Amino acid sequence: AKQDRAADYCIFESGMDQTMRARRALETDLRRALALREFALVYQPQFDLQSGRVTGLEALLRWNSPTRGPVSPMEFIPLAEETGIISPIGEWVLRTACRDAAGWPDDITVAVNVSAVQFANRALSTTVLSALADSGLDPRRLELEITESVMLDARGTALGVLQRLRATGVRVSLDDFGTGYSSLGYLRSFPFDKIKIDQSFVRGASEDRGNRAIVRAIASLGQNLGMATVAEGVETTEHMERVSTAGCTHVQGYLISRPLPPEQVRAFLARGTVA
Ligand code: C2E
Ligand code: CA
Ligand code: CA
Ligand code: CA
Repeated sequence: AKQDRAADYCIFESGMDQTMRARRALETDLRRALALREFALVYQPQFDLQSGRVTGLEALLRWNSPTRGPVSPMEFIPLAEETGIISPIGEWVLRTACRDAAGWPDDITVAVNVSAVQFANRALSTTVLSALADSGLDPRRLELEITESVMLDARGTALGVLQRLRATGVRVSLDDFGTGYSSLGYLRSFPFDKIKIDQSFVRGASEDRGNRAIVRAIASLGQNLGMATVAEGVETTEHMERVSTAGCTHVQGYLISRPLPPEQVRAFLARGTVA
């Protein structure tokens, strides 16, 4: 029996080694990717249900590795956060998104995902302001999408950075609302411009009364707090009708458009309304 246990232990060890090796290899490739220009942004339209127009686009990061092929952000962003590589990558995302958006019509906004790790130092506001100045983009056309994890930092550094940026006109959205560490208190501690309702509630709303009630509650919360509410992951006309009836102000999802490469954005916007 003793010998069996030793054998199990060996298998366990080598499994761990394998995982560690795979992570280190991914980290090495990730560090190289920025210098080798393997990253790209795609832009997904956000549709205003009231005006019937696209009012902005969310920048989403893509990594096309020459050896791995396309790697999903869900796979590499967590590792980029753990290792701190997210900071230079995030700066590249901000600068590229601002530069691209400066070439769009001037009533169209760009939303950029900013990870909690990027808030750990005060330099973030300098980076954002410098990306705006270099691109010439009006600060009111930039939206930062943050998740509730940003609000967890006890020293309040993130809150200070957000307040400073918002004073210059930059907008702030609360992403993936309803998942994670949700607390309604966060809605009181900062005047968000938008609440983004997580896709799990939106798509679940077709099958489940519970999800429907949650979407309705968040939409009316937004209404009462003067915040826009975006339903994410809208894939069908049925989803769209449900969230529209629930009182959401915007929708985003494959029904309106898949994320677009930058060279297709202007043509898409020129077509005007969708559907
Ligand atoms: P997210 O911010 O919640 O972005 C929405 C995700 O849902 C995107 O996945 C988008 O492609 C996908 N999506 C949009 N509409 C639909 C739909 O109708 N159906 C379905 N099934 N999916 C839809 P993506 O691009 O794979 O990004 C995944 C996550 O990676 C993002 O979730 C965000 O948390 C993170 N991420 C992406 N780009 C960046 C970035 O530049 N910086 C940081 N820090 N995180 C990023
Ligand atoms: Ca987002
Ligand atoms: Ca989201
Ligand atoms: Ca997410």
